[in-house]
This record gives sequence, C-alpha cells and structure tokens, in this order.
Amino acid sequence: MKSKSNILIVDDTPTNIEILVDLLGDYNIAVSLDGQGAIDISKNSSIDLILLDIMMPELDGFEVCKQLKLDPKTKDIPIIFITAKTDEESIENAYNAGGVDYVTKPFKPREVCARVKVHMEHSEHMKRLDYLASYDAMTDVYNRRKFFELGEDIFKHTKENELFAVILDIDHFKRVNDNYGHPAGDMVIREIAQVVYNILDDNMIFGRIGGEEFAILLHTTKDAAIKITEACRKAVEELSIMYNSINLHCTMSTGMACKSKEVDTLDLLLAKADEALYEAKDNGRNQLIFRS
Ligand code: GH3
Ligand code: MG
Ligand code: MG
Repeated sequence: MKSKSNILIVDDTPTNIEILVDLLGDYNIAVSLDGQGAIDISKNSSIDLILLDIMMPELDGFEVCKQLKLDPKTKDIPIIFITAKTDEESIENAYNAGGVDYVTKPFKPREVCARVKVHMEHSEHMKRLDYLASYDAMTDVYNRRKFFELGEDIFKHTKENELFAVILDIDHFKRVNDNYGHPAGDMVIREIAQVVYNILDDNMIFGRIGGEEFAILLHTTKDAAIKITEACRKAVEELSIMYNSINLHCTMSTGMACKSKEVDTLDLLLAKADEALYEAKDNGRNQLIFRS
C-alpha cells in the first residue's frame, strides 16, 4: 500500500492549525508555529507539501518560502499560502516568492482539501517525470543525460588533480548475447551495475552512458580512485550470475583519467578515460589503465 504523504502546516495561531489538522486527516501532518521552525522541519524531514501562513512574527511566510526555494533539498516542495491577506499585492508577492497557490481565510474547507489534492498529484507527477528523465530504466543508475548534467557541475567545482573519470566497459559482452540471448545480456548489465553501485559512495557520480558502458566521476585522490575502481573490477570478476541454471561470468575493462591543466573540459576528461579504456582492451582486458 502507498504510504501517506506528509503535509507541514505553518501558522502562528494554534486554533488555525487545529482546524487544518482535522480537515487533512488523510495525510501525515507536521506543524510549526513559526517560520524558522518550518524551515528546519522542511530541511530535516520528508515534507511533500506546505500550507504556509503569511503574517507571522520574525520570519514571515514570504521569507520562509523564498528561503525554501533557494535550497536544492526543499526547492521542489509545493507551497500553498493560506492567509487573511486578500490584497492583490500580497497575492502577487506570494506567487513571486515561489508559491503554487493562494487560499484566503476564512477558508472553505472543501476548497482547501481539493487544492491540496491537486497540488499533491501534480507534484507526484513531476517527481515521476524527473525520475524518468534522470535514471536508466534497466539498471536504476543515472542515465547518460543526468550523468553529464551532474558531471558538468562537479567538473566546474573541482580542482585540477582532484577529479577522476573512469569508463567501465564489459568485456566481450556481445558473446553473452550471442550465446545466451538478449535477456541474459540484460541481466548481466543489471547485475554488474548493482555490484558497482554498491561499492561506490553517495558523493560519486555513476551512470550508464551506453549499452554495456558505465562511467564514474570521483572527487578524490589518485590512490583512492584507483583503489575504488580496482575494487569494482575485481567484484565483477568474482561475480557469478545465475541465468536459467547457467552460471555466467564476465569481466570488465576500465580506463581512468584525471582533470588537469590540459584536460580542462568534461568531454576531454571522458575522451582521455576512453583512450585509456581502449588501451586496457588492447592489453588483454579485465584491467585498469590510467592516462595522465
Ligand atoms: P569488448 O570487449 O571489445 O568491449 O567487446 P564487446 O563484445 O563487449 O563490445 P561490442 O561493442 O562489440 O558489443 C557490445 C554489445 O552490447 C553489442 C550490443 O548489441 C550489446 N548491447 C548494447 N546494449 C545492450 C542492452 O541493453 N542489452 C543487451 N542485452 N545487449 C546490449
Ligand atoms: Mg498569522
Ligand atoms: Mg564491451
């Protein structure tokens, strides 16, 4: 069963909160009586939608909304303003601050429920679309588009000699398809992606950039990058994949390069790693080659 969504209600008047809590019984509810508390809760728990009062002492609703929109972790939470202010300027300010909707007090209970439901559904659709646009359907790791998007960002923010790109390519993969069929090949790609993913940390960017080709971006030292890549290569070498009562074994070759004065774009870095990969293939496969 799908778990309930979480709504945060923010209002400095407890009776307003009580009414809304009763009204929104279908959801899990968190509450805050002030703006700073609302920001803290939004950053530290998983909130799906916020009902936000405008007039509050210290941080008002506009300011809370603006701050939440600046933080990547909270920027996509839909915010519905619920307020006694009915003037046109406040309504405009609410939308300019990043609100998705505006309800005036005294509110009509069924209208509030209907608006919450619509925005909750809309937000779920957006999350789903974002997932489909970012992840590879077969392996659940980042797809090529997302890998390059995150890659450009980390490339910009990392110093020379501190960013390593690795391209990993399954060896003689065509033979798996030829000998055991395409579904067996798919299973091998999935299992290898999972094994590599499990070795990596959250701060490493790992994506499927082609059919049987993956890439990793590591912000670390050369020794650590080599150690992690070798751990991935070895784990794949030791992996036994059961397909229709047959044990399949594969190896993979890996090529690594480092950001430097000369290697000053992500495309160049990946091209260097690709050259190293071809060297690894020529050299007998199932190995790592580093290209400085
Ligand atoms: P090498 O060791 O030189 O990398 O040889 P290889 O056979 O792995 O490389 P090659 O590029 O010749 O073949 C890759 C094959 O991967 C060809 C393609 O049909 C297959 N492939 C690409 N994407 C998929 C996929 O999603 N599923 C399956 N089952 N096969 C795929
Ligand atoms: Mg108030
Ligand atoms: Mg291959």
